[in-house]
Amino acid sequence: MGVKIPFRRELDFRYGEVAEIGPGIRRVVANNPSPFTLHGTGTYILGTGKVAVVDPGPADPNHIQAIVDALAGETISHVLVTHTHMDHSPGCALLKKFSDAPTYAYGPHGAGKLEEGVAVEEGGDMDFVPDHLVSHGEVISGGDWSVECVYTPGHTSNHICYQLREAKALFSGDHVMGWSTSVISPPDGDMLAYMKSLDLLLEREDDLYWPTHGPAIIDPKTHVRAFIEHRREREQQILTCVGKGVTHIPDMVPLMYTDTPEFLYAAAGRSVLAAVEYLVARGDLAIDSAVSLQAEYRLA
Ligand SMILES: [Zn+2]
Repeated sequence: MGVKIPFRRELDFRYGEVAEIGPGIRRVVANNPSPFTLHGTGTYILGTGKVAVVDPGPADPNHIQAIVDALAGETISHVLVTHTHMDHSPGCALLKKFSDAPTYAYGPHGAGKLEEGVAVEEGGDMDFVPDHLVSHGEVISGGDWSVECVYTPGHTSNHICYQLREAKALFSGDHVMGWSTSVISPPDGDMLAYMKSLDLLLEREDDLYWPTHGPAIIDPKTHVRAFIEHRREREQQILTCVGKGVTHIPDMVPLMYTDTPEFLYAAAGRSVLAAVEYLVARGDLAIDSAVSLQAEYRLA
């Protein structure tokens, strides 16, 4: 791979401990580390007194208790959800036992693809139904904070980022992370939508990003440009593979992901599928059947 993404992984934190990481921004990290969550889910608390909680995280009572304990004497007025993967939204139901704050999200899992009738993949939190649906550009105001909703489908069809306007800080969820590229897994994940959502960020003025997993991204546009470049290289790798007669996704993965451990090949295959779907839509690849992991592809 030619492009160098300036990855950042180091995070100064302790599980269950709420830390102030910027003016009006606190974070507590859930103890759910994995190859997909890095150290775990970072739940953010915005403002003071009457606060917003961003992504309550997995259904982990200890994590919810840590949030509640940290906010003794304060009130949660809003619960903002970036998207409905199992490490982001199931904590909402647990938090409801302590707070009647309404939840805000773009929609339930798959909301951005409902009109296409796409059956969304497992791994989504199918139980989550937001109290309030938010739309792109909407501003939500609380005590001493306000956020702008930035609809960024791609990682999931209902993914939304929130900009804390007072800090020009974008809570970027899993759309853009500092430590890793995003997994784009069809059918709910969508590469075309994802690339458009990356372009959208280049048009914005955000001073920094706070992703759900890992440290802040302090040079956002450099990072986003590197991600776009990286995806273009992946597309090129796929076209090269097919050109050489490697026409099935499972055979492309080991050639494309030479630095990736084998146990992540399945996830990588999902990402290749997303890119292939995009290349077929763009007319660069051709196929006789439906786009799938098992299908055989050829150059158009
Ligand atoms: Zn996710």
